[in-house]
This record gives sequence, C-alpha cells and structure tokens, in this order.
Amino acid sequence: MTTTPWHERAAVLRLDGRAFIDGKRVDAASSARFDCLSSVDGRKLAEVARCGEAEVDAAVAAARAAFEDRRWAGKAPAERKKVLVRFADLMLEHRDELALLETLDMGKPIRYSRGVDVQLAQNCIRWYGEAIDKLYDQVAPSPEDSLALITREPVGVVAAVIPWNYPMLMAAWKIGPALAAGNSLVLKPSEKAPLSSLRLAELALEAGVPPGVFNVLPGYGDEAGRALGLHMDVDCIAFTGSTRVGKQIVQMAGQSNLKRAWTELGGKSANIVCADCPDLDAAVSAAIGAIYFNQGESCNAPSRLFVEASIKDAFLDKALALVPRFAPGDPLNEDTVMGAIVDAVQMKTVLGYIASGKEEGARLLAGGTQARIDSGGLYVEPTLFDGVDGGMRIAREEIFGPVLSVLSFTDLDEAVRQANATPYGLAAAVWTADMSRAIRTARALRAGTVHVNQYDNDDITVPFGGYKQSGNGRDKSLHAFDKYTELKTTWIQV
Ligand code: NAP
Ligand code: MG
Repeated sequence: MTTTPWHERAAVLRLDGRAFIDGKRVDAASSARFDCLSSVDGRKLAEVARCGEAEVDAAVAAARAAFEDRRWAGKAPAERKKVLVRFADLMLEHRDELALLETLDMGKPIRYSRGVDVQLAQNCIRWYGEAIDKLYDQVAPSPEDSLALITREPVGVVAAVIPWNYPMLMAAWKIGPALAAGNSLVLKPSEKAPLSSLRLAELALEAGVPPGVFNVLPGYGDEAGRALGLHMDVDCIAFTGSTRVGKQIVQMAGQSNLKRAWTELGGKSANIVCADCPDLDAAVSAAIGAIYFNQGESCNAPSRLFVEASIKDAFLDKALALVPRFAPGDPLNEDTVMGAIVDAVQMKTVLGYIASGKEEGARLLAGGTQARIDSGGLYVEPTLFDGVDGGMRIAREEIFGPVLSVLSFTDLDEAVRQANATPYGLAAAVWTADMSRAIRTARALRAGTVHVNQYDNDDITVPFGGYKQSGNGRDKSLHAFDKYTELKTTWIQV
C-alpha cells in the first residue's frame, strides 16, 4: 500500500464541472449550475453544469453527426482497439487523480477507489478494446444461388444514465462495449457523483476518441436524464439505477421513438448458508465483507442472510466479532475500509430503514447509528439485525446501506422459496458441502448471478444483470455487445 498524502492532493486537485460536448468543455447554455458536494466532509468541491434539454439536444446532435460521418464507426476495429487501449493506459497514468475524484465525490475509501474502481474500470475499457478486433460475423447456411450474411452494426447514438455508487465503473461498463462497437455516446452521470465521468471524457479525447463520439452531461435525473429518455434521436438508452426510475426509462422509450431500453436495476440478494457449509469462517467473512463493502451501496449486496438454525448462534458469534472492523473512517486514510454514505438523502433512507427494523421487532445486534458526526460527512455504523421476518421492510426492500438482515431456516426448500419471494433477482448465494444440493439450489435461485461457496467473485469475462425487476440485458462480457449492436441480414443473389 502506498503512503500518498491524499488530503494534500485533494486540496490542490483541479476540478472542472463543465459539461463535455463535441470534444469541448462547455457551460450549460443557461449558465445554470449546481453544487457538487464531497461526501467525505460535506464541503463544496465544484460547481457543475446543470444540463437540460438544450445541452441534451446539442450533445445528441454532436453524437449523431459523429456517427453519420463515420469518424469512429468507420475506423477499422483494430484502430478502435488501439485508441481504447490507449484510453485505458491513460486511466492508469491518472490513477491517483481518478481515485481521488471518486472518493471525494461519493465517499468510498481511497484504497478501494484506487485499487478496485480505477483498476476494474480501465480493465473494462481495455478488455472491450482488445475484444473488438477478434469478433467475426456469420454466414448463413443459404442455398447455392445466394449468400446471406449476418453482421453486427453499431446501433447509433447511445445514451447512458448511471448511478453514483460505482460512478467510474458503471460508466466503464457502458463506455467499453458501446464505443468498441462503434457507437457514439452521451453519458449522464448521477448529480451526486459526476466528476470522474467528466474526467474520463477528457482522457478518451486525449487517447484519440474523436470529438462528438463521447459526450458527458452532468445534471439532474428529471432534467437531463429525462430529456435523454424522451429524445427522438437517441437509438438506445442504457440505464443503471433504481427499479423505480428504470420503469420510467422503459416508458419514456415507449412514449418516444421506441429506442432500445436496457435496464440494470436494484437488488435484495439472498445469501443462504446451510449447516454443512464447508468453511464457516469463509462464509462469515464473505457475508460480512460483501454487505459492508462500499458502505452497503452495492446493487448486488447480500442484504438478506438466511442461516440454517442449527449453526446460527455460531455464525452470529463469528460475524459480530468481524463487524467492528468495518467501523467507518476517514475515506482518505488508506487503512479505512468503510467510508461515507453518499449524501443526506441516502443517509435518511438508511436510518429510516434501521428505525423500521426496530419498530417491526427485529433484534439490533450491531450498529444502528450515525457515526463521525464531527467530520461534516455522513457515516453510518455497520448494522446487523437478527430475528428478521420475511415480511419486515428490512427483508423486502432495498436499503442500499450497511445493514444486514439475518433470517434463519430449517428447511432449504423453504429458504429458497423465501429467497425467491422478492421482485428482485440480481444475485444470490448458497453455501453447502453437498455438490448436488448446491447445484439444485443454484438452479432454483432466480437471479442473474448465483455464487456457490463464495460471494462477490466478479470479473469482466462474465455477464452481470438481473432477472425480474432487477432489469434486463447484461453488462460485461461479450454479451454486452447485444445491447449496443443491431443484427443485419444481407441477402446476395449469386
Ligand atoms: P436512481 O435514483 O435510479 O438514479 C440513477 C440515474 O438515473 C441517475 O443518473 C439519476 O440522476 C437518473 N435519474 C433519476 N431520475 C430520472 C428520471 N426521471 N429520468 C431519467 N433519469 C433519471 O438510482 P441511484 O440512487 O443513483 O442508484 C442506486 C440504484 O442503482 C440502486 O437501486 C442500485 O441497486 C442500482 N444499481 C444497479 C446496478 C446493476 O448493475 N444492476 C449497479 C449499480 C447500481 P440523478 O442522480 O442526477 O437524479
Ligand atoms: Mg458528490
């Protein structure tokens, strides 16, 4: 681990909150701005352009012009690869700066923004760059007097609307496949964490992504986000965020031009630990580590823990011994493993769920309160409820904070039934030494990702996304190209 003086670095960081349209930094036409606050200590970081319909029109027009003249789509895949690999290299060269932007803007510990977020985000861009000149199209088994080609073409102008919990990584999951496939992109980051996306656009330009191909519009969801959702000249919208807004995005697509609408939404993931779990310490450490990672602000956080009744006491003893390690600390200290909640709205939501858990009769075994109040930032203690019933709000609704709900079971089929009794279907896990039982359970769990005897394994090679109201489509892996390409059939008479 480095010993970078992060506070000193933060004090001299260059922050530019202007939008990025057609290769240039610009203010909103109306000069409207909003304050971008640091989650670390509540201070104002920058004034950021409050983009609305006018900027959306300008960015979409720039993206359309870039797509039509084929300045990017017309490049050989090997050329696009070179540019994207250079972009990833630049992200690594600017690793400390990008990590700092991310930590200041949304509060995650610097050790993770540097070691996880920048690392995964650059790898994602690199991976799609590396992939694009290795993909072949198809020739259909057509009769002798004809030739039928099945080719993939970029869909055109892609809008991406992303959340604040992994701002740079969620941006990269869209940027990588969308740009590799030859599209033009208009990205709207969350108003709560726009800074890293804006910096990525500058680095992409420096790497050789032509002006107009990658635009970034900071702004509010119901202004810039909505204008993108309803725009008649956006061909595809790739959305990551809440299920509530995801439903609106799909409606907006239907109300406007039937743009392709892809949604990556919320979760309430179940983690089932059977009494024959092969390694209880590993199960405890994964359960606790994964719910408190990123302050619990992870879509796939295993927020419902089902433990078989006969091992529940032993499990909880070990779990409660680990919880204090996640006490929130200064996100700019490299030893900190849990940082700040993104903002006051989110903290109110989290504390509201904690209050509801107590009111509905769950037993609070750890945390439950705000922490580090003098820091100016917003921090919540790692919180654990036992005695949770499937009907309680803390067992049914996505909290998106460091709150674990523990339920117990005696019958695995019943646990699986309860695990599936949710509108969500993002991730799930089962821990058992019996492989047949593991496979049966993995098959029965209705989720886009199922873990067996581990949690949170993740890399770019596998698709990520949800069943049911956790969304449609998949980010990551070659499957992501399905979202950003159209299939074309060409019949040729021979
Ligand atoms: P959110 O409130 O739904 O916002 C997501 C994005 O949509 C933001 O950029 C937001 O802008 C924008 N938005 C809000 N209202 C809009 C509207 N009416 N029209 C168009 N855009 C609008 O979600 P969040 O609080 O940022 O993120 C947390 C959620 O994301 C959680 O539910 C989490 O599970 C989910 N998530 C899912 C995945 C996945 O891959 N499945 C990954 C990460 C997060 P503003 O922020 O500026 O309002
Ligand atoms: Mg912020």
